[in-house]
Amino acid sequence: MGRKFFVGGNWKCNGTTEEVKKIVSMLNGAEVPSGDIVEVVVSPPFVFLPLVKNSLRPEFHVAAQNCWVKKGGAFTGEVSAEMLVNLEIPWVILGHSERRLILNEANEFVGDKVAYALSQGLKVIACIGETLEQRESGSTMDVVAAQTKAIAARVSNWANVVLAYEPVWAIGTGKVATPAQAQEVHCELRKWLKANVSDEVAATTRIIYGGSVNGGNCKELAGQPDVDGFLVGGASLKPEFVDIIKSAT
Ligand code: PEP
Repeated sequence: MGRKFFVGGNWKCNGTTEEVKKIVSMLNGAEVPSGDIVEVVVSPPFVFLPLVKNSLRPEFHVAAQNCWVKKGGAFTGEVSAEMLVNLEIPWVILGHSERRLILNEANEFVGDKVAYALSQGLKVIACIGETLEQRESGSTMDVVAAQTKAIAARVSNWANVVLAYEPVWAIGTGKVATPAQAQEVHCELRKWLKANVSDEVAATTRIIYGGSVNGGNCKELAGQPDVDGFLVGGASLKPEFVDIIKSAT
């Protein structure tokens, strides 16, 4: 079974109502490959999710940027998976490096979040990736394997998981991984899934790349055999996001 190309746009903590409406109208007017070829999911801040969901073209979907690790309740400031499901938000991004590093989300905590979100019926973009220091010390694969292991230990059904390899040194820095660097890690991750989960999960799980992807570098990255799409930050707020979607073909 082929892996459908996946392009996610992570808007992070950006935007006003007016700016959000402008991005939606740009996306709604864009000519892009059909939904059979590419799956597009944009992730606005929580407060704009209903606006974006209700105004975005129907073949594009929305994701939250986080959700609470278990059932909602007395957790001030958190948003639960149940609430996202109630609002018919289909996707959630979990384990983004900004949350792992700034908010100290540990591998096990991210794994618990992924498992809980899946149990509630959400689809998950699960982020993993090494810091520059870890890459330079030669521990990239150990780091991403440990992050993936914490997810695999808690998840039995991978059908609704997209794995986003996002090297921390490439996020928001303009220093994109080379196509060879991305391919190397994606290929190793697929081998890890084969050895530790199953042949089927390794063959079918989409592994997408994130970190300074833009309209200029997307095509070559997309040409790598184990790069099944992108998670895009900065460029997802700009018209070049459409070029990134088009790199699916
Ligand atoms: C991200 O934050 O997920 C990301 C990939 O950011 P950027 O594209 O801006 O590097």
